[in-house]
Amino acid sequence: MQKIATPEGTKAILNKYAFIFQKKFGQNFLIDPHVLDKIIKSSDITKKDCVLEIGPGIGSVTQALIENAGKVISVEIDKQLIPILEEQFGKEENFKLIHNDILKVDLMELIKKESPDRPIKVVANLPYYITTPIIMALLENELPIESITVMVQKEVADRLASPPGSKQYGAITVSVNYFAKPYLVANVPRNCFMPRPNVDSAVLKLTLNKEPVVEVNNKEQMFRIIKSSFLQRRKTLLNTLGANAELGLSKEVLKELLDRSEIGATTRGETLSLQDFARLSNFIDENRK
Ligand code: SAM
Repeated sequence: MQKIATPEGTKAILNKYAFIFQKKFGQNFLIDPHVLDKIIKSSDITKKDCVLEIGPGIGSVTQALIENAGKVISVEIDKQLIPILEEQFGKEENFKLIHNDILKVDLMELIKKESPDRPIKVVANLPYYITTPIIMALLENELPIESITVMVQKEVADRLASPPGSKQYGAITVSVNYFAKPYLVANVPRNCFMPRPNVDSAVLKLTLNKEPVVEVNNKEQMFRIIKSSFLQRRKTLLNTLGANAELGLSKEVLKELLDRSEIGATTRGETLSLQDFARLSNFIDENRK
């Protein structure tokens, strides 16, 4: 079969099926075989692995996944693409296609059914309009996932892989760090896609932590602290946390707690690591009256 992730391979399929791009579904198909190679190599998949692919499109990445993985489950929202994918890969025994919105799929049930004995690996060229909700749904729901290797907007990859204190570092960076170790695999220019998107992209790999990297007494509280700390980046913790009624602490009590903690009331949240947030949250939890 001709390689789909090339300009010729992609054009051949688009013409054969008179495919009409759906802008609302973030369709930018990969046409660069070297980038595909990087995705496959960095995802570390073997014939023992079950892979979940989100948004197979016309099958540019799917084709290589079917060759390299034990099993491939691809979830695609666009009904126009279903017969194309069925015709390309329907005969492959290790391929299963699901026509649905990934955000509506019960992922725990799907993984338990399709891969009961092994955690799965997620590989995808994600639709950019819902990158963050997809990544957070994969991370937050305690799913049996080993790693997530995804093409995302470069800006998102930079943000998720950035260190404390940097411009891109945000609440989402700290949250992702709680669940996984991010690694920026490669930057990908816009001419590697058809049609060309307006932004550059990057391949990001998230390896899920097998054990928690921090001990937290009250997870909900820690995430609340993280979120409020970044709402106004230039403000001190005393001001950002003091403005959050959900924390249930008066400014006076908060000031006293922050002063007594090693973090201090005048520190800005953007300089704190996940470990700092965990320590601060535990301190508040243990010392509030
Ligand atoms: N994997 C293909 C490739 O690399 O060429 C296509 C990638 S394209 C960036 C994103 C794909 O996700 C499209 O096929 C699009 O129809 C699909 N998609 C968009 N929203 C989706 C959703 N909510 N659930 C499942 N698939 C979705």
